[in-house]
Amino acid sequence: MAFDLDRLVRDNIKSLIPYSSARGEYGGDARIFLDANENAFGSPLEKDYTRYPDPLQSKIKDRLAAIKNITPSRIFVGNGSDEAIDLLIRIFCRPGEDNILLCPPTYGMYEVSAAINDVDVRRANLNGDFELDVDAVLNAICDSTKLIFLCSPNNPTGNLLDREAIIETVSAFDGIVVIDEAYIHYSDESSLIEDLEAHPNLVVLQTFSKAWGLAGLRVGLAFAGEEIIALFNKVKPPYNISQASQETVLKALANKEIVEKNIEQTIAERKRLELEFPRFRFVEKVYPSDANFLLTKVSNATDLYGFLLSERIVVRNRSNVVLCDECLRVTVGTPEENHALLSAFERYEKSIVH
Ligand SMILES: *Cc1c(COP(=O)(O)O)cnc(C)c1O
Repeated sequence: MAFDLDRLVRDNIKSLIPYSSARGEYGGDARIFLDANENAFGSPLEKDYTRYPDPLQSKIKDRLAAIKNITPSRIFVGNGSDEAIDLLIRIFCRPGEDNILLCPPTYGMYEVSAAINDVDVRRANLNGDFELDVDAVLNAICDSTKLIFLCSPNNPTGNLLDREAIIETVSAFDGIVVIDEAYIHYSDESSLIEDLEAHPNLVVLQTFSKAWGLAGLRVGLAFAGEEIIALFNKVKPPYNISQASQETVLKALANKEIVEKNIEQTIAERKRLELEFPRFRFVEKVYPSDANFLLTKVSNATDLYGFLLSERIVVRNRSNVVLCDECLRVTVGTPEENHALLSAFERYEKSIVH
């Protein structure tokens, strides 16, 4: 189908004159900066944060561009991926008129962002194997469907979606398909960033919150065609990433080896838990995972959840989510944390077998 970005964008966003920040208007070097009402006398802190940060985070984008083999103009840096999700809905969906399509069970933020923006949600559930049902997706969309959100590896199920099914959906839809790759670093599959060139209606989300271990910083990424990234930049708050976050992310990007080692350890521990969980009689199923968590079906999810809480171990009870009856989502912890979890499982097993 023909992709026409101009047709998809809300009229008020097309005609928007974006806020012009001081640092955006004059980005060069000067002797004296008296243009942004910053405090010339400094702050109570030793570290100097008196100046507004780079609105377009060019140092981070240059580093990422080299790592991801993509031009900086195809990168958006957001206050978490959550900011990118919200901006996508605000750029493309007219409140009360347009809708987005989701494939439950999936990440809850897409739906919340839609609701905040008064945008309807259509649904095409994943199938019994948590795979994308392309026919169901194409049947569920309509003329006012602007965005399809797919999550791969998917949260809370943990599996990668079939790449061909994703591409089939991207090719058949004339709106935007967003692929959320928050957990991609834990899988063997390569990122769909490499398909951006061939598919102008594709947006790929990644984040520093998971494999990079920086959830507290709130830095997420969107990769897309240049025109879509320009729309993000037009709509975002001017200084959406703080100076502290920009500096910290740059430091992290210089230490990729540590991240790779953490990923290896996480996967090794995930494999251990995958083997250990089925030893317990109350565990009915452990779903295959390409992420840093396991979805597991147990005899009584709410009972086990409560027992673990009494042991001061918190997991995520997903038993009220479609296709996740009696399921808990367990994040892979350190070897010590996982050992403690398994010991708690043993005590639970004894407590229910009479
Ligand atoms: C954790 C997670 C994110 C990360 O969101 P941030 O706002 O970047 O912390 C995004 N998508 C999914 C599916 C997640 O599970």
